[in-house]
Amino acid sequence: MTEFGFIDHIARRFADLPGNGFEGIGDDCAVFPFGGGEALLFTADLLTEGVHFLRAATSARELGRKALAVNLSDVAAMGARPVATLLSLSLPADAAGEWAAEFMEGYREFSAEFGAALIGGDTTRSEAGITINVTAIGRAPETHVKRRSAARPGDAIFVAGELGASGAGLREIFAGRLDAPTAVVHRNPRPQVAEGLWLGARREVHAMMDLSDGLASDIRHILDRSGVGARIEVERIPVASGADLRTAACGGEDYKLLFTADARQADRLAADFRTAFGAPLHPIGRITDGGGLVWLRDGVPAELDWQGFTHY
Ligand code: ADP
Ligand code: MG
Repeated sequence: MTEFGFIDHIARRFADLPGNGFEGIGDDCAVFPFGGGEALLFTADLLTEGVHFLRAATSARELGRKALAVNLSDVAAMGARPVATLLSLSLPADAAGEWAAEFMEGYREFSAEFGAALIGGDTTRSEAGITINVTAIGRAPETHVKRRSAARPGDAIFVAGELGASGAGLREIFAGRLDAPTAVVHRNPRPQVAEGLWLGARREVHAMMDLSDGLASDIRHILDRSGVGARIEVERIPVASGADLRTAACGGEDYKLLFTADARQADRLAADFRTAFGAPLHPIGRITDGGGLVWLRDGVPAELDWQGFTHY
């Protein structure tokens, strides 16, 4: 079974159990409206040594920041403000001392910067490698929550930053060039927390998610859940310095926001975003009635075997 096949299996197998007011599996976070027009959002992510990181290639402090960043990105992806996290660590003896203290310094840095309280977790010994699990909790007015299922035909598709640096950096790390500029980007993801909150408050923004597995893979979640298609103009995909187009489309772990918005308001939205953040939004295509995902090169459909990235 693939990772997504397994998640589908889980979702189906548990669909008939009580939801207790939660909107569960399938989006970047689960959503729980708690009254007064507000919702809490919940998301969990796991980092495993040897799968998600190599201890020799990333510092403990960087990993502390990253463990939090990937979760805050999922909260931001739904237009919510991060409020708290739970942190569970499974540590082998050789990581239990100084390594763990440095990890917590990194975790503290991003907790302070993004305003998330650390409210609990668990700590155990490990026989084989470091495992880090973070659960993040966000809060938002219900009307600000942006779901993957809200894309509409005619919407403009945007990404809120350049893509591919992280994927290019991973290749540099595998080649032993740990200090290449893109490798530094790969080790230091920054969640678009302020951007996500800002986009959450804009009514013309419809569907939103964060790019963790790569545009080519992640956009399909919006299409599947919204029951729509998309046409993406490949020359409009913003390629980060040090990356190439294919890596920008297929590489993982950029943690930039991908969203759709009412096309009639797209220009003003982009102009306001630039005023707010001093950076552009990148329009890359349009949502269509159906027809799946079509890559356009010079306006003509192109057969590209572009797939996203998977750890599973
Ligand atoms: P993301 O990349 O945004 O973290 P994932 O692709 O990891 O999202 O997960 C997709 C959806 O499946 C999310 O709603 C997530 O909460 C859910 N999910 C993933 N793994 C499990 C699991 N083992 N049990 C229940 N839900 C899961
Ligand atoms: Mg996500």
